[in-house]
Amino acid sequence: MLSLKKLVRPNIWNLKPYSSARSEFMGEASVFLDANENPYNEPHNRYPDPLQWEVKHKIAKLKGVQPRQILLGNGSDEPIDLLIRAMCEPAQDNMIAITPTYGMYKVAADVNNVEYREVLLDEGFDFTAENLLSVANDKTKIVWLCSPNNPTGNSLNRKEIVRTIEQFQGIVALDEAYIDFSSHPSFLPELKKYPNLVVLQTFSKAWASAGVRLGMAFASEEIINVLNKIKYPYNISALVQKHALQTIGRGGEVKSWVKTLLTEREKLVANLQTLPCILHVYPTDANFVLVSTTDANGIYKYLISRGIVIRNRNNITLCEGCIRITVGTPQENEMLINEMQKL
Ligand SMILES: *Cc1c(COP(=O)(O)O)cnc(C)c1O
Repeated sequence: MLSLKKLVRPNIWNLKPYSSARSEFMGEASVFLDANENPYNEPHNRYPDPLQWEVKHKIAKLKGVQPRQILLGNGSDEPIDLLIRAMCEPAQDNMIAITPTYGMYKVAADVNNVEYREVLLDEGFDFTAENLLSVANDKTKIVWLCSPNNPTGNSLNRKEIVRTIEQFQGIVALDEAYIDFSSHPSFLPELKKYPNLVVLQTFSKAWASAGVRLGMAFASEEIINVLNKIKYPYNISALVQKHALQTIGRGGEVKSWVKTLLTEREKLVANLQTLPCILHVYPTDANFVLVSTTDANGIYKYLISRGIVIRNRNNITLCEGCIRITVGTPQENEMLINEMQKL
């Protein structure tokens, strides 16, 4: 890896971050007259902990990392944007990603006016480090990988992910939004070995909290420190921090949701394979399945007319004729199959 100083934009490296009242005083006190808060309407009157230490300690224990290796964001969208803003000089630096993949990396690149180089996956929706890194140059700061990948559902080849991390001189951002549904292990234990690795996870999928907006980035303490400098000081509200603590306390329930969804996924896949309108069900390691059909647009419209929404991926590269179906409750999945049997 290049030195972090070489990867981070000079203005960010030299930035003196905003210092909030709450970060200047962290001790115990009974009278708080430092932050121009209103003394009434407890507990919502107080600014939240800007670095969310209580939540991070709980997540750290759960994930086997140090609290200082965690950044919490407003969904995964925030760490995606922060990484780009920290590392990529607009109109100058570039990033590389596999395609098809999650759409947010490209949107965040476009917002920041950073060139986004896409490398097509093979027929098995997989990649090689050699192919991916062949489009890198000395202005390439970040490589985006997503495993299990969205919308394809498969996990990427682990050896090639490792090769990418080992051979690339910049940051490798590995999005593990669906890791709890995967039969493959997370890369979190590898963080110690790889100073250029950033792993993204989220409360939106297995943790069933998409409406709460809470994403996690895991990386070296040095990388997290850079991101902390540029995030909004109070980016995670007190309400969200409270919800996170409660959800972490319901870990057993999360495990049982995941178990049910995995059973339901196998049933859904088996049922889809019997339908005449389905040409192929792609292997999945996530809580959704990509299927190739005889008529994606027609199936999409028909299901909408029956009150069922799926995702039409017909216009995505390599996904012509495909729809993406999220695994729902047993009743929801049965309704879907019943409707699709009429096609
Ligand atoms: C759903 C999803 C996320 C989650 O995004 P949030 O902003 O945390 O809700 C992240 N990455 C991928 C690939 C996803 O599909």
